[in-house]
Order: sequence, then structure tokens, then C-alpha cells
Amino acid sequence: MRSIVHGGSCGDSCCLRIEKLGVRIGAEEILHDISLHVHCGQLVAIIGPNGAGKSTLLKAILGQQEHSGSIRFSTPGERDRKMRIGYVPQSPAFDPGDPISVEDLFVCCLYKRPAFLGASKAMRERILECLDRVHAKDLLRKRVGTLSGGELQRVLLALALEPVPNLLILDEPLSGVDVEGISTLMDMLDELRRDYDLSIMMTTHDFSALRRYADQVVLVERQILRLGTPEEVLSSPEFYSAFHMKGDGTT
Ligand code: ADP
Ligand code: MG
Repeated sequence: MRSIVHGGSCGDSCCLRIEKLGVRIGAEEILHDISLHVHCGQLVAIIGPNGAGKSTLLKAILGQQEHSGSIRFSTPGERDRKMRIGYVPQSPAFDPGDPISVEDLFVCCLYKRPAFLGASKAMRERILECLDRVHAKDLLRKRVGTLSGGELQRVLLALALEPVPNLLILDEPLSGVDVEGISTLMDMLDELRRDYDLSIMMTTHDFSALRRYADQVVLVERQILRLGTPEEVLSSPEFYSAFHMKGDGTT
């Protein structure tokens, strides 16, 4: 829902490199010794039980959470070019009775202009281009509070993609989305990262989509318990133990 620009470099290729990241809130150690490397165009899924520190890790990357260790970004060819991050936070709530339309939301977020002033012709054209990226032009006039979970995620994604970022961070984009909506959304993310060569980091509790779409899965519970391909992580003893499952997937 918002774009953030970070500087810094970590080599010649486009990447996000996290080294020995730690987060303490008061006396509690929330994250410990997190080291992670995300390359251009990769989809990385952060998984872990509730309270594991997934959202905190994303906030640290966004510069919203104090931390120790380092987080460095670089883009190809230009070591010190800025990396732009698009962010969709966890479950933003909209009231079904709220009169705000999708167009109004874009007017407020992109133009910092009160929704009651409406969109000019030029603004509407730009908003439609944004919605077209997520195949959602038909949602322009819909009230935000009446959108399905999948439609709302697509609208928020369209906002996070303007301007197109190098890294897209999505916190639990699949929660509240039905099975059909999950496939639509994941196919779209897959298409977007290929079209724009952007990296995606997302947290999720929906493991069914990971084998097909994720390049890397990071199992977190205060620290990294396991990191690897979806196959490696989802069949690991650490995964079963973190979710209190037996080897056959039952609890
Ligand atoms: P997850 O997203 O994996 O469910 P979070 O990152 O939201 O987990 O939270 C990790 C832990 O940090 C939880 O125990 C949570 O209570 C704690 N925590 C997160 N933010 C704060 C905060 N601002 N103040 C105190 N504790 C926090
Ligand atoms: Mg969370």
C-alpha cells in the first residue's frame, strides 16, 4: 500500500541481503540471527506459527522496526541505485457500509487528495492502468467494503505496484481469500514478477501454493528453523515440529 525507498548495495546482482538480524522489543527477543538472501525475480515465502516474528521481519525490512544486524539492497548494474519497495500490510479492514470506492481509495493514496473531490480524467486513466496490471479494471466503481478477499488483495496489490517496485512485500495476502481466489492471486504474482523482474516476499499459512510458486521457503520461529526449496522445508522435521504435526501431516 505504500512505497519506500532504501539505499545501499550488496554486490553486483540485484538482491536483498539480510545478515544476523535481531529484534528486541522490551526485554523480549523477537528475532535472533536471521540471515537471508533474496535475488531478483524470486518469490520467497516466510512461514511459521502465529507469533513467530514473520510480520516483525517484514517491518524490519521496511525500515519500520528497529533491529540489529544489517539489511542491504542492491539493483543490477548500479550498485547504489535506490531499491523501491511496495507493501501490502496484513488484513487491512474496511467497513462494508463505508461509501469509499476503489477509485476513491486510489485518489486518496496516490494523489493525497480528499476522495470527495473525485478523480480528474487524467487521474482516472492512470488508476485504470494500475488496475489493469492486476486485471481489475472492472472494480473501479465498486465499494471497497463490498469486495471479496481476493478482489481486495488485487486492489491493494495494484496500489503497491504504483510505481512498480523492485521488491514487493505482502503480509498474509492469502488469508480471507477462497481457494479459487488463491490460484488467481498466485498466478498473478507469478506473472508480475516475470513481467517486471521484481522480487516478492510474502508471509502465508497456506502451504498448498508454495510447491508450485515459491523459490525459497523460510521457516521462522524467532530464528530461522529451516530455509530451502519448498520441497526441502515442507518435508523437514523442523516444519512438522513447528506446526505440531506428525510425519504424515496429521496433528
Ligand atoms: P507473526 O507475524 O509471525 O504472527 P509478529 O511478528 O506479529 O508474529 O509477532 C512476533 C512476536 O512479537 C509476538 O510475540 C508479538 O506479541 C510480539 N510483538 C510484535 N510487535 C510487538 C510490539 N509492538 N510490542 C510488543 N510485542 C510485540
Ligand atoms: Mg503476522
